[in-house]
Amino acid sequence: MRKILVLEDEASIRGFVVINLQRAGYEVLEAETGNQALEILLENPDVSVALLDIMLPDMDGFEVCRRIRSNNSKIGIIMLTAKTQEVDKVTGLMTGADDYMTKPFSPTELVARIDALCRRVGAEEKKTADELINGPFHLNVKNRTLDKNGDRIRLTQVEFSIMKLFMENHDRALSREEILNQVWGKDYFSDLKIVDVNIRRLRMKIEEDPTNPEFITTVWGFGYKWGK
Ligand code: CA
Repeated sequence: MRKILVLEDEASIRGFVVINLQRAGYEVLEAETGNQALEILLENPDVSVALLDIMLPDMDGFEVCRRIRSNNSKIGIIMLTAKTQEVDKVTGLMTGADDYMTKPFSPTELVARIDALCRRVGAEEKKTADELINGPFHLNVKNRTLDKNGDRIRLTQVEFSIMKLFMENHDRALSREEILNQVWGKDYFSDLKIVDVNIRRLRMKIEEDPTNPEFITTVWGFGYKWGK
């Protein structure tokens, strides 16, 4: 059974989320504070997805996200935001979250997004060993690692999936819709901004000059292209 961590200090919202996830067949772990969430994750390294509230009593959800990502690139992270300002903060800070949802959200949508994140990770685990080499980049599909000139680049699961998609489609312009469908899944309800957020973060990790990218180039009004 897939394990989901729910970090939310408001008991009523947490209860609502927990019950819906349990109905959907997930095992749910609950935390009220950032520190509690980090402890639970240390004891349960097999958690597939973490849902993180932003306004918490001990630290904000962005800090929790940053700390989780500093030693766990595999877990899926969805930020639960209360208002548009927080959405802007999510996109602005790019803390390593895979997605965000604005409260109030429907349980159906929440479960669909978690399912999609879990499926993406699960589906890629089943693939056989494979390597993609492109310029200074060496992508190992089995180990889910990316090296540039022999140096390991730490990627989240989503960033890895985007890199894989790019390297499989050298020199081909990919629309933002296509990237969203391929990486997050066809039935994913998120908006296209999440593609741009992840691309921006990826550029900061792989480009010499992220403001003047040479590998991931923008195709204006359409999407992105991989290749020099
Ligand atoms: Ca809160």
